[in-house]
Amino acid sequence: MSVIKPEIDLGNHQLKNRVLLTLSVVILCSCFATGIHNITSNEISAKWVAASQFLLGGFFAFTSISLQRGKERPWFNWSIVYAYIGLIAFAVLSFGVEKSVSMWFFSVPVVSYFIFSRLHGFIISLLVLALFIYLRIDYNLYDASEVWQSTLINIVPPYGIIMALANAYENVRLQNEWELSEFALTDPLTSCYNRLALKSIYSSLQSAKQPTAILLVDIDHFKRVNDCYGHEAGDEVLKALSNLFTKELGEKSVFRIGGEEFLLVLTDEKENFKSLAEGIRSKVQNMDFYYGEEQIQLTFSGGCESITSDTALTDALKKADEALYSAKSQGRNKIVYI
Ligand code: GH3
Ligand code: MG
Ligand code: MG
Repeated sequence: MSVIKPEIDLGNHQLKNRVLLTLSVVILCSCFATGIHNITSNEISAKWVAASQFLLGGFFAFTSISLQRGKERPWFNWSIVYAYIGLIAFAVLSFGVEKSVSMWFFSVPVVSYFIFSRLHGFIISLLVLALFIYLRIDYNLYDASEVWQSTLINIVPPYGIIMALANAYENVRLQNEWELSEFALTDPLTSCYNRLALKSIYSSLQSAKQPTAILLVDIDHFKRVNDCYGHEAGDEVLKALSNLFTKELGEKSVFRIGGEEFLLVLTDEKENFKSLAEGIRSKVQNMDFYYGEEQIQLTFSGGCESITSDTALTDALKKADEALYSAKSQGRNKIVYI
């Protein structure tokens, strides 16, 4: 099993939900308003249209309530944005393409780039632009005599500018989001994930299909390394150990959760965590670590515990810490298993 990549929400998820909720409410209100208008009509066909509008309104009442309660579903994204585009197209066709209601089309690139991926946003924006031009094709697409009223001049450049800005903004936003989340989740010294990252992936460990354990590691007599060889030597030890752990387990399974404390995620089909952990312990013990000319002997003590779906993170850390202290009191360079 590979441990999932830690993630942090920098508020973007909440903002997306707010935008979707706003669009959902707009669609819902439009459906009910036009539904009420149609039901008062004497024509039978209008009553059928009203019925389908109420049905659609009911659906978007459901999405609005769900979003308000924070219970969104993945398909809300496309169903709400596509319905929003459909609503604009419907209004344009009903009121006439020459009416200013068609200006609502200009909001599509901003909304679709923000809600979807860049490629999806780009394709939807282009399709909507094509539809926009198509709807106005008979109106004044190439009105040469009044060139400033021509559809092509008044639609394509401003729409293109909005698309380009939405794309540029999305690029910058994604880059910032990536940098900020790397900054928030990784330890600058060792480049390992940190305690916040552990919190973010812990629920996936609880529900993992493969048997999973955590190994809490504390370097033995680390203070002596700092005292004898200097703080920089201590930093190099931390980097060398994190490299060794990462080489053994992969970067997503190594977390630096304190000064000289690491948490390692072990997964093994046969629950043979002991041989995995002892393998790492003996590799550290036999590691040739040199700081300049000086060889520094390194060992660690550890507490190892299996994770089940009802082991909360704080309890798991508390128990692993107790096991670790027991390993220390048994003479160090030892792992105690729970
Ligand atoms: P024990 O075997 O009982 O764990 O002894 P120890 O010396 O490892 O434990 P102690 O908790 O007394 O010392 C931990 C030291 O780790 C103290 C602190 O200065 C050092 N330390 C914490 N973070 C860093 C760091 O980022 N770089 C360096 N160089 N030292 C650090
Ligand atoms: Mg310590
Ligand atoms: Mg220590």
